[in-house]
Amino acid sequence: MSRFSKASVRDADVAGKRVLVRVDFNVPLTKPTASSAPGSPEESDMDPGSLPRPGAAGLQVADDTRIRAALPTIELLRDRGASVVLVSHLGRPKGKVDPELSMRPVGERLAELLGAPVSQAPAVIGEDIETMARGLGPGGVLLLENVRFEQGETENDPELATALAGLGDIYVNDAFGAAHRAHASTEGVAHHLPAYAGLLLEREVTELTAVVESPSRSLVVVLGGAKVSDKVGVIERFLEIADRILIGGAMCFSFFRSQGIETGDSLVEEEGVKLAAEALERAQSSDCELMLPVDLVLGRSFDAGTETSEGDGVEVPEGWMGLDIGPKTAAAYAEAIASAGTVLWNGPMGAFELEPFAAGTRTIAEAIASAPGTTVLGGGDSVAAMQQFGLADKVDWLSTGGGASLELLEGKKLPGVEALIDA
Ligand code: ADP
Ligand code: MG
Repeated sequence: MSRFSKASVRDADVAGKRVLVRVDFNVPLTKPTASSAPGSPEESDMDPGSLPRPGAAGLQVADDTRIRAALPTIELLRDRGASVVLVSHLGRPKGKVDPELSMRPVGERLAELLGAPVSQAPAVIGEDIETMARGLGPGGVLLLENVRFEQGETENDPELATALAGLGDIYVNDAFGAAHRAHASTEGVAHHLPAYAGLLLEREVTELTAVVESPSRSLVVVLGGAKVSDKVGVIERFLEIADRILIGGAMCFSFFRSQGIETGDSLVEEEGVKLAAEALERAQSSDCELMLPVDLVLGRSFDAGTETSEGDGVEVPEGWMGLDIGPKTAAAYAEAIASAGTVLWNGPMGAFELEPFAAGTRTIAEAIASAPGTTVLGGGDSVAAMQQFGLADKVDWLSTGGGASLELLEGKKLPGVEALIDA
């Protein structure tokens, strides 16, 4: 079992201290009247009596998965008599105050989930905010405004890092989804205070590292989604480690194009064609089997009402685009998943948002849900697909970090993790 090399909040002496916690509350917001917000999962598991109320700009949290994921760390700190100052980014306000990206609706949802009051700071830093932070009693919680309202956040500005450090005695990073960014609240601040890993960040790193370092065999990696260039680092790494890599999604067309196969009007990332050719060549001398689709589901255009056709083979004629893997491919991939000791999945097999092209992704999701091996999911859209199919609770680990999980799997160091004190 791979060990986590950083100091954990579990081992920190926090009683009576003020703890600045970087969380990843970058959640989708929605107008309460929009009954089916895009990307909003079914809220059927939610008690209707506790439905979120709209925040200042009339917005509410559409999916609170990331807030829930941070609760164990917040609760641990409160239980041990610490006061908690929470800081997160939300969207991309680009260094300016944007009322639509206020943390207010997040704070309201957090208070409901905690069953405790959450004070909401009107800004990120400043004298008033320091007074609010100092005024917290044991178990008290203060949520700062969106840290990206400050220009210095993404620039990792030392002044902002110092000002943030002034709000706590101890720093905890629980924002795995932002750990691949060297920003003031994820990296800079960690150099000014004793810096510990939160429970979520620790678990994310441990689960994902275990896939790379100590997987039960066979190790099967399922990769899909839009672009090869997003995932070429992961392909290269796992050609060295995995037993099989199963390719689906639009990225397979970069592979087919590099093999001279007709791709019709399919989405082909030009930059990906060369990368795909290199990966195919590398696979020749690797013990890892790189599997590509053997059949496809075609459509005339990217919409749910379009004419469809089940292609025999993988040639895509002019006037058609490949929008899903076909049933033979899905069955072969499902079999590989069923016999695996470890399965890592990142990226949907097709345009799963459109019902006629969801079958391939659904088959893979179901195979993963019933797989006897260890199953790990990363990537925003694959996790959304698993939730859409109601199978999210059947997976061993669902990563909350898209980009961060990919970088960790590629073998890159995450600045937000590196800056923490060693265990
Ligand atoms: P993840 O967030 O899981 O890493 P990506 O963001 O890389 O996944 O890709 C997800 C997107 O890829 C989805 O919006 C899906 O519609 C799209 N996609 C998958 N297969 C195809 C395809 N064959 N043609 C067009 N788009 C596709
Ligand atoms: Mg995505």
